[in-house]
Amino acid sequence: MSDIATRVASLNARYRHHSAISVVEKALSDPEAGNVALVSSFGAESVVLLHMVSLVAPGTPVLFIDTMMLFQETLDYQREVSLRLGLTNVQTIRAADAALALDDPDGTLHQFNTDACCQLRKIVPLENALAGYDGWITGRKRFQAGTRAQLDFFEVETPTRMKINPLAWWGREDVEEYMIQNRLPRHPLVARGYPSIGCAPCTSPVKPGEDPRSGRWRGQAKTECGIHFIGGKAVRAGGQKETTK
Ligand code: SF4
Repeated sequence: MSDIATRVASLNARYRHHSAISVVEKALSDPEAGNVALVSSFGAESVVLLHMVSLVAPGTPVLFIDTMMLFQETLDYQREVSLRLGLTNVQTIRAADAALALDDPDGTLHQFNTDACCQLRKIVPLENALAGYDGWITGRKRFQAGTRAQLDFFEVETPTRMKINPLAWWGREDVEEYMIQNRLPRHPLVARGYPSIGCAPCTSPVKPGEDPRSGRWRGQAKTECGIHFIGGKAVRAGGQKETTK
Protein backbone atom coordinates (compact mmCIF):
# COMPACT_ATOMS: atom_id res chain seq x y z
CA MET A 1 0.00 0.00 0.00
CA SER A 2 1.29 3.48 -0.84
CA ASP A 3 1.93 6.01 1.93
CA ILE A 4 -1.02 7.47 3.78
CA ALA A 5 -0.80 10.99 2.38
CA THR A 6 -0.93 9.64 -1.17
CA ARG A 7 -3.89 7.41 -0.38
CA VAL A 8 -5.77 10.22 1.37
CA ALA A 9 -5.14 12.59 -1.55
CA SER A 10 -6.33 10.03 -4.04
CA LEU A 11 -9.46 9.16 -2.02
CA ASN A 12 -10.34 12.85 -1.70
CA ALA A 13 -9.84 13.39 -5.43
CA ARG A 14 -11.91 10.32 -6.32
CA TYR A 15 -14.85 11.01 -4.01
CA ARG A 16 -14.79 14.80 -3.75
CA HIS A 17 -18.28 15.18 -5.23
CA HIS A 18 -19.89 12.21 -3.54
CA SER A 19 -22.72 12.34 -1.05
CA ALA A 20 -22.21 11.54 2.62
CA ILE A 21 -23.61 8.03 2.35
CA SER A 22 -21.52 7.36 -0.73
CA VAL A 23 -18.40 8.43 1.19
CA VAL A 24 -19.39 5.98 3.94
CA GLU A 25 -19.82 3.23 1.36
CA LYS A 26 -16.48 4.00 -0.34
CA ALA A 27 -14.67 4.28 2.99
CA LEU A 28 -15.85 0.77 3.81
CA SER A 29 -15.09 -0.75 0.42
CA ASP A 30 -12.21 1.07 -1.30
CA PRO A 31 -8.97 -0.87 -0.76
CA GLU A 32 -7.06 2.39 -0.37
CA ALA A 33 -9.05 3.16 2.78
CA GLY A 34 -8.14 -0.23 4.23
CA ASN A 35 -9.71 -1.65 7.37
CA VAL A 36 -12.16 0.97 8.72
CA ALA A 37 -14.37 1.22 11.82
CA LEU A 38 -17.03 3.72 12.86
CA VAL A 39 -16.42 5.33 16.25
CA SER A 40 -19.70 6.42 17.79
CA SER A 41 -20.68 8.03 21.09
CA PHE A 42 -24.37 7.26 20.50
CA GLY A 43 -24.89 10.92 21.29
CA ALA A 44 -27.30 13.54 19.99
CA GLU A 45 -26.40 13.28 16.28
CA SER A 46 -24.72 9.87 16.11
CA VAL A 47 -27.73 8.09 14.68
CA VAL A 48 -27.11 9.65 11.24
CA LEU A 49 -23.84 7.83 10.59
CA LEU A 50 -25.09 4.72 12.39
CA HIS A 51 -28.03 4.66 9.99
CA MET A 52 -25.81 5.12 6.92
CA VAL A 53 -23.51 2.32 8.05
CA SER A 54 -26.51 0.06 8.70
CA LEU A 55 -27.67 0.59 5.10
CA VAL A 56 -24.27 0.07 3.52
CA ALA A 57 -22.63 -2.62 5.68
CA PRO A 58 -24.37 -3.46 8.98
CA GLY A 59 -21.51 -5.72 10.07
CA THR A 60 -19.06 -2.80 10.16
CA PRO A 61 -17.22 -2.57 13.48
CA VAL A 62 -18.85 0.19 15.54
CA LEU A 63 -16.65 1.20 18.47
CA PHE A 64 -18.61 2.63 21.40
CA ILE A 65 -16.53 4.06 24.24
CA ASP A 66 -18.23 3.43 27.54
CA THR A 67 -16.39 5.63 30.03
CA MET A 68 -18.52 4.10 32.79
CA MET A 69 -19.56 7.69 33.49
CA LEU A 70 -22.24 7.90 30.79
CA PHE A 71 -25.89 8.70 31.33
CA GLN A 72 -28.08 5.64 31.73
CA GLU A 73 -30.12 7.12 28.85
CA THR A 74 -27.07 6.81 26.56
CA LEU A 75 -26.57 3.15 27.46
CA ASP A 76 -30.26 2.44 26.83
CA TYR A 77 -30.19 4.41 23.56
CA GLN A 78 -27.11 2.50 22.40
CA ARG A 79 -28.90 -0.80 22.82
CA GLU A 80 -32.13 0.45 21.25
CA VAL A 81 -30.46 2.00 18.19
CA SER A 82 -28.14 -0.95 17.60
CA LEU A 83 -31.08 -3.34 17.66
CA ARG A 84 -33.39 -1.19 15.58
CA LEU A 85 -30.80 -0.52 12.87
CA GLY A 86 -29.58 -4.12 12.82
CA LEU A 87 -25.96 -3.24 13.59
CA THR A 88 -24.29 -6.59 14.21
CA ASN A 89 -20.79 -5.61 15.28
CA VAL A 90 -21.05 -2.97 18.00
CA GLN A 91 -18.05 -3.24 20.30
CA THR A 92 -18.12 -1.60 23.72
CA ILE A 93 -14.73 -0.20 24.62
CA ARG A 94 -13.78 0.44 28.25
CA ALA A 95 -10.67 1.27 30.22
CA ALA A 96 -8.91 -1.75 31.69
CA ASP A 97 -9.91 -2.64 35.26
CA ALA A 98 -6.29 -2.44 36.38
CA ALA A 99 -5.89 1.08 34.97
CA LEU A 100 -9.11 2.24 36.64
CA ALA A 101 -8.06 0.70 39.95
CA LEU A 102 -4.70 2.43 39.75
CA ASP A 103 -5.66 5.89 38.49
CA ASP A 104 -9.27 6.40 39.54
CA PRO A 105 -10.10 3.87 42.25
CA ASP A 106 -13.02 5.84 43.68
CA GLY A 107 -14.30 7.34 40.42
CA THR A 108 -13.62 10.96 41.42
CA LEU A 109 -10.75 11.81 39.06
CA HIS A 110 -13.09 13.92 36.90
CA GLN A 111 -13.67 16.24 39.88
CA PHE A 112 -10.10 17.47 39.98
CA ASN A 113 -8.41 16.49 36.69
CA THR A 114 -10.70 16.16 33.70
CA ASP A 115 -7.82 15.82 31.23
CA ALA A 116 -6.42 12.85 33.12
CA CYS A 117 -9.88 11.33 33.41
CA CYS A 118 -10.55 11.66 29.66
CA GLN A 119 -7.12 10.20 28.99
CA LEU A 120 -7.85 7.21 31.21
CA ARG A 121 -11.44 6.57 30.21
CA LYS A 122 -11.57 7.65 26.54
CA ILE A 123 -8.28 8.30 24.81
CA VAL A 124 -6.25 5.28 25.87
CA PRO A 125 -9.10 2.77 25.39
CA LEU A 126 -9.89 4.20 21.94
CA GLU A 127 -6.26 4.23 20.88
CA ASN A 128 -5.97 0.57 21.91
CA ALA A 129 -9.19 -0.32 20.10
CA LEU A 130 -8.06 1.41 16.90
CA ALA A 131 -4.72 -0.37 16.83
CA GLY A 132 -5.82 -2.82 14.15
CA TYR A 133 -7.48 -0.28 11.86
CA ASP A 134 -6.28 1.83 8.93
CA GLY A 135 -8.98 4.43 9.49
CA TRP A 136 -12.06 5.46 11.42
CA ILE A 137 -15.24 7.27 10.50
CA THR A 138 -16.21 10.31 12.56
CA GLY A 139 -19.17 12.71 12.54
CA ARG A 140 -17.06 15.88 12.47
CA LYS A 141 -18.36 18.78 10.39
CA ARG A 142 -16.85 21.96 8.99
CA PHE A 143 -19.34 24.30 10.65
CA GLN A 144 -18.58 23.07 14.17
CA ALA A 145 -15.36 24.98 14.75
CA GLY A 146 -12.74 27.15 13.13
CA THR A 147 -10.28 24.28 13.31
CA ARG A 148 -12.62 22.19 11.18
CA ALA A 149 -13.25 24.78 8.47
CA GLN A 150 -10.99 23.00 5.99
CA LEU A 151 -12.12 19.49 6.85
CA ASP A 152 -11.95 17.02 3.94
CA PHE A 153 -13.74 13.69 3.64
CA PHE A 154 -10.45 11.88 4.17
CA GLU A 155 -7.58 13.18 6.30
CA VAL A 156 -4.29 11.91 7.61
CA GLU A 157 -4.40 11.27 11.35
CA THR A 158 -1.15 9.42 11.99
CA PRO A 159 1.48 7.93 9.66
CA THR A 160 -0.59 4.74 9.60
CA ARG A 161 -4.17 5.84 10.07
CA MET A 162 -6.73 8.15 8.44
CA LYS A 163 -9.91 9.79 9.67
CA ILE A 164 -12.96 9.86 7.46
CA ASN A 165 -15.54 12.63 7.81
CA PRO A 166 -18.54 11.84 5.58
CA LEU A 167 -20.59 14.68 7.13
CA ALA A 168 -17.85 17.29 6.64
CA TRP A 169 -20.10 19.51 4.53
CA TRP A 170 -23.30 19.07 6.51
CA GLY A 171 -24.92 21.82 8.57
CA ARG A 172 -27.02 21.41 11.67
CA GLU A 173 -30.19 21.58 9.57
CA ASP A 174 -29.01 18.71 7.33
CA VAL A 175 -28.60 16.48 10.39
CA GLU A 176 -32.06 17.43 11.60
CA GLU A 177 -33.61 16.87 8.20
CA TYR A 178 -31.96 13.47 7.80
CA MET A 179 -33.22 12.29 11.18
CA ILE A 180 -36.76 13.45 10.42
CA GLN A 181 -36.86 12.03 6.89
CA ASN A 182 -35.60 8.65 8.04
CA ARG A 183 -37.66 8.65 11.24
CA LEU A 184 -34.63 7.90 13.34
CA PRO A 185 -34.91 7.62 17.12
CA ARG A 186 -33.56 10.62 19.04
CA HIS A 187 -31.40 10.44 22.11
CA PRO A 188 -33.92 11.06 24.93
CA LEU A 189 -31.79 13.76 26.56
CA VAL A 190 -32.02 16.05 23.51
CA ALA A 191 -35.62 16.89 24.40
CA ARG A 192 -34.48 17.64 27.94
CA GLY A 193 -32.05 20.39 26.90
CA TYR A 194 -28.90 18.44 26.05
CA PRO A 195 -27.95 19.13 22.40
CA SER A 196 -24.47 17.64 22.98
CA ILE A 197 -24.11 14.64 25.25
CA GLY A 198 -20.99 13.35 26.94
CA CYS A 199 -20.37 11.88 30.37
CA ALA A 200 -22.97 12.59 33.06
CA PRO A 201 -20.68 14.47 35.48
CA CYS A 202 -19.34 16.71 32.69
CA THR A 203 -22.49 17.51 30.72
CA SER A 204 -25.18 20.03 31.69
CA PRO A 205 -28.30 21.26 29.89
CA VAL A 206 -27.98 24.23 27.55
CA LYS A 207 -30.19 27.31 27.70
CA PRO A 208 -31.86 28.78 24.59
CA GLY A 209 -29.33 30.90 22.69
CA GLU A 210 -26.27 29.22 24.16
CA ASP A 211 -23.79 27.38 21.96
CA PRO A 212 -25.02 23.78 21.72
CA ARG A 213 -21.72 22.52 23.10
CA SER A 214 -21.50 24.95 26.00
CA GLY A 215 -22.90 22.31 28.35
CA ARG A 216 -19.76 20.23 28.02
CA TRP A 217 -17.26 20.79 30.87
CA ARG A 218 -19.20 23.92 31.80
CA GLY A 219 -17.17 26.45 33.75
CA GLN A 220 -13.86 24.94 32.68
CA ALA A 221 -11.38 26.00 30.00
CA LYS A 222 -11.49 22.44 28.68
CA THR A 223 -13.19 22.18 25.30
CA GLU A 224 -11.97 18.89 23.96
CA CYS A 225 -11.77 15.38 25.32
CA GLY A 226 -8.64 14.85 23.25
CA ILE A 227 -9.91 12.17 20.90
CA HIS A 228 -9.31 14.38 17.88
CA PHE A 229 -5.66 15.13 17.37
CA ILE A 230 -3.61 16.76 14.68
CA GLY A 231 0.10 16.03 14.74
CA GLY A 232 -0.22 14.37 18.12
CA LYS A 233 -1.86 17.38 19.80
CA ALA A 234 -5.48 17.73 20.86
CA VAL A 235 -7.21 20.16 18.54
CA ARG A 236 -8.54 23.18 20.35
CA ALA A 237 -11.54 24.92 18.94
CA GLY A 238 -10.63 28.59 19.06
CA GLY A 239 -13.09 29.56 21.77
CA GLN A 240 -15.83 27.20 20.68
CA LYS A 241 -16.56 23.97 22.39
CA GLU A 242 -15.41 21.06 20.26
CA THR A 243 -16.54 17.52 20.91
CA THR A 244 -15.99 14.08 19.49
CA LYS A 245 -19.01 14.26 17.27
S1 SF4 B 1 -15.94 13.70 30.10
FE1 SF4 B 1 -15.67 13.85 32.37
S2 SF4 B 1 -16.22 11.86 33.27
FE2 SF4 B 1 -15.98 11.61 31.03
S3 SF4 B 1 -13.93 10.87 30.76
FE3 SF4 B 1 -13.82 13.11 30.52
S4 SF4 B 1 -13.47 13.98 32.58
FE4 SF4 B 1 -14.04 11.79 32.83
